[in-house]
Amino acid sequence: MYIVVKKSKKKRYSIATLGSHCSLQILKGAKDEGFNTLLICEKRRLGLYKRFNFIDDMILVDKFNEISDESCQQHLRKTNSIIIPHGTMIAYMSREEIEKITIPFFGNKWIIKWEADRKLKQQLMNEALLTTPRYVESKDDIERLCIVKLHGAAGGRGYFLAWNRQSFEEAAKKLMDQGVITSEDDLYIQEYVNGVPTYLQFFYSSVTNVLEFMGVDRRYESDVDGMGRIPAKQQLGIEMQPSYNVIGNIPLVLRESLLEEVYAMGERFVKTARRLVPPGMTGPFCIEGIYDREGKFTTFEFSARIVAGTNLYLDGSPYSGLIFDKPMSMGRRIAHEIKMASKQGRINDILT
Ligand code: ADP
Repeated sequence: MYIVVKKSKKKRYSIATLGSHCSLQILKGAKDEGFNTLLICEKRRLGLYKRFNFIDDMILVDKFNEISDESCQQHLRKTNSIIIPHGTMIAYMSREEIEKITIPFFGNKWIIKWEADRKLKQQLMNEALLTTPRYVESKDDIERLCIVKLHGAAGGRGYFLAWNRQSFEEAAKKLMDQGVITSEDDLYIQEYVNGVPTYLQFFYSSVTNVLEFMGVDRRYESDVDGMGRIPAKQQLGIEMQPSYNVIGNIPLVLRESLLEEVYAMGERFVKTARRLVPPGMTGPFCIEGIYDREGKFTTFEFSARIVAGTNLYLDGSPYSGLIFDKPMSMGRRIAHEIKMASKQGRINDILT
């Protein structure tokens, strides 16, 4: 492991994160709020990240899980770092590795288990009274269009649609032949909800105890979002199973009449997380689901940390603009929270 120190400043907090997902937004926001910034960067990605002047220090690693190595943690301690988690950290590090990190961690590291485990995730959504898609216990119970997911899949890869037992078995067999799954038990069947997939981005401040709705996006997924470009006749002629791999995000604003329920869902989520996973949901999170034709929201997922869709709003969103008088990205909002908590001597309220 090599350490590249570009221009360390006097002793103050460094905002640190892994170089991927939304690290640019996080570190730009931290710099705008006056923090030192530190990137844990895979050597192969140095070419990209050295382009950005707002990154003060870098720790170069071969693999992200080196962050739990003592030498890496020592450097993070020396630079007075606070780690900001994001989707790549969740995807590339085990829950145990994350829980072992001794560096101050922004938000609640204990909630990651609830995000990673389907059963716990469902429990939290149920107790928060979020409507979720019907779970289909067995392939024999498939009566309508269903989406079949892989346990612990990241980014919708390998998901498929099934409408009866036969279509389920055919697609499952393909995944087994490709070595993606070992048996049908690796799959999880859920009723397909038709409508607009929507990602609601929130920030809960443990300093002010206020929930902020910061933005909303939808994902652009390959190939499911590209299939509409192929006429129906050709679609029938080719055997095509849509994949849900996220390629990017598209901004969205909601009908204003939907906002009240958005806040209500966010507040129920925060309240439930506080009860089930102390100290609760500090900082960014996302409720992910589908609006149907009646404007009713069905939640299929949540992320208990910043999501990549917030990268859209580096200069603020149509919602953050209603709360703040300066451009406020989610990354900057995190830094702002750390600054507020630190000024009030409450830094431990927002770290685990
Ligand atoms: P991952 O957690 O792997 O990113 P998600 O559960 O977020 O996967 O789902 C990936 C995509 O699959 C979503 O963006 C959405 O388009 C689609 N999807 C997931 N669940 C449903 C559902 N019940 N009905 C319809 N589409 C769904």
